[in-house]
Amino acid sequence: MEQEILDAYVKAGKIAGQALDYGCTLIVEGASMLEVLEQIEAKILALGGDFAFPPQISLNDVAAHYCAGPDEETVFKKGDVAKLDLGVHIDGYVADTARTVVIPTGDAEEDKKLELLKEASKAALEAALKLAKPGTPLVEIGKAIEKEIKSRGFNPVVNLSGHGLGKFVIHDSPSVPNFEAPTNEVLHEDQAIAIEPFASTGAGMIYESANATIYAVQETRPVRSPMTREVLKTIVGYNGLPFTKRWLVAKHGPGKTAMALRELKNLGVLHEYPPLPDKAHGLVSQHEHTVIVKDEPIVTTRSSKNR
Ligand code: MN
Ligand code: MN
Repeated sequence: MEQEILDAYVKAGKIAGQALDYGCTLIVEGASMLEVLEQIEAKILALGGDFAFPPQISLNDVAAHYCAGPDEETVFKKGDVAKLDLGVHIDGYVADTARTVVIPTGDAEEDKKLELLKEASKAALEAALKLAKPGTPLVEIGKAIEKEIKSRGFNPVVNLSGHGLGKFVIHDSPSVPNFEAPTNEVLHEDQAIAIEPFASTGAGMIYESANATIYAVQETRPVRSPMTREVLKTIVGYNGLPFTKRWLVAKHGPGKTAMALRELKNLGVLHEYPPLPDKAHGLVSQHEHTVIVKDEPIVTTRSSKNR
C-alpha cells in the first residue's frame, strides 16, 4: 500500500476513534438522540474529517441503520442498548467503527446481563482482529466470532457481516462473516476491512424494516423537475456515499426535500437503507473496527479509551 493511502486510512481512523469516544460519553439517560448525533457530526468536522456515512444510533432490537430524522423525538432511557456507528473519510479512504453503550437500569442482575451482551460482541471483535493477517481464511474469522458470542449464551447475527473498504466505497468485497460461513476466500496483505460482530439475545437474524432515513445514489438518471435537480446537486456532492434526509432538510427545507426524495426513489436513483431489527426483537450489541490486513494488523480506529 502506498504510504499516502495508508496515512489517509490512519488519519480517518484516528478521527473516527476520537469521535466515537466522544459520542459514547453523550449517550446517557435523558439525552436527545438528535442532539447527540448533531454533536457527533460537529466533532467529526472539527477534527478535520468528512462523513463516510451519517453517524447512527440504533437502539435495543435494532441492530443497525437507525439515523435520527429531522423531527426525531427519541430520548435515551434506562436499559437502552445503544449502538453508535460512525464513518469518517479522508480523501475517500474510510474508517468505519462502532461501539455499544448500555444505560444501566439500576437493577444489578439486569445490568450484569446487558454488560455480558455488550462484552460478547467486543470479545468477538478482539478475537477476529488478531486474525486479520494475510492468508487467514475468512471462515476462521467467522468461526472465532461465533465462538466468542455463543460461549456467552448469545447468537451472532448471521445476515450482517463485515466488509472490505475502497476509495469512496464503504461496502466492498470481501464479505467478513459473523459465523462459520461456507467461503474459501482468504485475506490479502493491505486489504482495508471493517469487522463488525453483532450479538443478539433473539434470533440472530435481522430484517429490513420501513421508514429509511439513510440513502445513497445507486444510479444517475436525467431528472426534469428543477427543484429535484437542485436537491440532487447536493446529493451528488456526497460522492456516492450514504447521506441522511436530515442533512437535506437543513439545506433545502422539509417540503422540497420530501418531494425530491420521492421523485428520486421513484426514478430508481436512490437506494434506501432502512433500520434493521432482529427478527425475534431480541437485544443486539455491536462492536466494529477498521483494520489494514498485515502480519501485524493495523487497527486504524483504535483509540486510547478502547483497548
Ligand atoms: Mn459501521
Ligand atoms: Mn461497517
